[in-house]
Amino acid sequence: GLSPDDYRRKHEITVSGNNVPPPFTSFEETGFPSELLREVLRAGFTAPTPIQAQSWPIALRSRDIVAVAKTGSGKTLGYLIPGFRHLKVTCNNSKMGPTVLVLSPTRELATQIQDEALKFGKSSKISCTCLYGGAPKGPQLRELEHGADIVVATPGRLNDILEMKKVNLSQVSYLVLDEADRMLDMGFEPQIRKIISAVPTRRQTLMYTATWPKEVRKIAADFLVNPVQVNIGNVDE
Ligand code: ADP
Ligand code: MG
Repeated sequence: GLSPDDYRRKHEITVSGNNVPPPFTSFEETGFPSELLREVLRAGFTAPTPIQAQSWPIALRSRDIVAVAKTGSGKTLGYLIPGFRHLKVTCNNSKMGPTVLVLSPTRELATQIQDEALKFGKSSKISCTCLYGGAPKGPQLRELEHGADIVVATPGRLNDILEMKKVNLSQVSYLVLDEADRMLDMGFEPQIRKIISAVPTRRQTLMYTATWPKEVRKIAADFLVNPVQVNIGNVDE
């Protein structure tokens, strides 16, 4: 295999932060459970994408991450699979509230993330529910009451439900801001700030973004602790 530096050069990965672990260049070296590896092979995947290769070992060490990579690079499993591991070690009762929270800009993206979580989380019996606007709250509230390990939500709807005190975020210890740049472009910054203030500070925070403008840097500076930054290819500001 390639050395970590050669692998990074080949795939245009740049990293910053202290003690950055080497990338996983194959699925074998991830140490993922065999049922999960079978699911990944069944999906036709032959190797981790560059963002997965570099962000998995960082996330598995419970480090905060900023990942800047364009659409289609495999970011979803980049954060979901370490999230499954996190769920396994924390062992919370999902009835008390979610342990993993993923914020996503749109209903369509949130639904895709839920699909991916259910497909790849099946062998670890992960439960996942989705909260988004433009649909009645009733069914979403009922699903929440049944309990979910993972909640995937758009910031507007989650903040509404939070203000109704119908969701408890006090067990969240793995927080993902997916497509952070798009969420900010859509004007969700106030809701994102309110939601994060309801999540304990003792947590792991992972931020994924396609671009790296100053508004996104500000959110990263405010909410991430000693993150490792991973960039794939050229970074647009
Ligand atoms: P992003 O969030 O970066 O836009 P996605 O997570 O939506 O990207 O992934 C894009 C597509 O690539 C999805 O169809 C996903 O199932 C697929 N994919 C994810 N990981 C791999 C992999 N290791 N090898 C091949 N395809 C993958
Ligand atoms: Mg995505």
